[in-house]
Amino acid sequence: MVSLALGACGGSPDSSSSSSSSSSGVSINLPLVLAINAGSTSSASYDGITYEADKYSRASSGASSTTESIIGVSDGTMFQTERWGTYSYEIPVTDGTYSVKLHHAELYHDDSGLRSFNLSVEGRPVLSNMDLFDDFGRNVAYTHAVEDINVNDGVLDITLEGVVDNGTLSGFAIYSNNGEIDTSVPVSNCSGYVGLTYDDGPQNTARILQALRDNNLSPVTFFVNGERIAGKESAIQQMIADGHQVQNHAFYHEQPMLNGMSVADATDSLKRTSDLIVSAGGSATTILRPPRGQTSNNIESAAASLGMIVHNWSIDAMDYNGASTADVVNSVGQLQDGQDILMHTFADASINAIPQIAALLKSKGLCPGRLDPNTARAVAP
Ligand code: ZN
Repeated sequence: MVSLALGACGGSPDSSSSSSSSSSGVSINLPLVLAINAGSTSSASYDGITYEADKYSRASSGASSTTESIIGVSDGTMFQTERWGTYSYEIPVTDGTYSVKLHHAELYHDDSGLRSFNLSVEGRPVLSNMDLFDDFGRNVAYTHAVEDINVNDGVLDITLEGVVDNGTLSGFAIYSNNGEIDTSVPVSNCSGYVGLTYDDGPQNTARILQALRDNNLSPVTFFVNGERIAGKESAIQQMIADGHQVQNHAFYHEQPMLNGMSVADATDSLKRTSDLIVSAGGSATTILRPPRGQTSNNIESAAASLGMIVHNWSIDAMDYNGASTADVVNSVGQLQDGQDILMHTFADASINAIPQIAALLKSKGLCPGRLDPNTARAVAP
């Protein structure tokens, strides 16, 4: 357990923390601001409130559900889904004072000691080493309240941290003394962004772009070779028209190898490639991925002289080395917020994986991002 003592800011004790079931006794007599059905793409009613489809979570996490009955409540639908992981909800609100009801149930484990987690609200520790099974059992609704939370940074944070396995949250409701949702902040369904990158193009462009369109997967980043652009300028144009990024993979992929070149020759290789992309309607490249991921001081200097950074990848899908479509999808599943994965335009496994990649990212609340020109981290497009 345990529910930590509340009241540092005048809140009253959590009346349900010692109860072994249900949410009775947890009431907040304030106007409702927002209620979220965590881990669900649907809304659900509970205790007279509509909990909206999941949004506002940040950092990589997972969503799960059960069809088993929830103990301790008459309508357990909201409790039957969860968002799990080490992550946070970041709700844009006007500065003010809020109270929050939090709903949990152990939907997965069948014994004590298999899950424990910490939870804080706006930095205030609320749960420490909470083991839901140990305290309540499986599929038992647990609701608790955190009162009088002062928000002065425009964002109300609910943060979960797995200690053993993952944190879990089924839903929450935010009530207000004097604040409201800040509707000037756009709502994003993306809890994080990942970079999908395809190297060694342009090749197979029409096929890849169609698959990406069919699965609403955009943007991805193509690292192209200058030597392959001649006669395929329209491929570059199509990539850009579809909203994708086109970046630099040097002029030649193999001989002469970029990493054996002088600064002057390497600069020429990168500039010629960037110029070809610009001629085809793109932007001057900002990120170099050297062929084979082999860099050198000369390459770093050449890239810097053109205002480019050198970046390889976070995860290698190994699609040039026999990885199957399932292997590629599995590699995509390892991506955390901000990371990117290396795939290739010549690899059938990676092209065929596009529908499964789209479904997997959606299930994780992750979206394709563009690579930031200064850090190469995947960020919001
Ligand atoms: Zn390559």
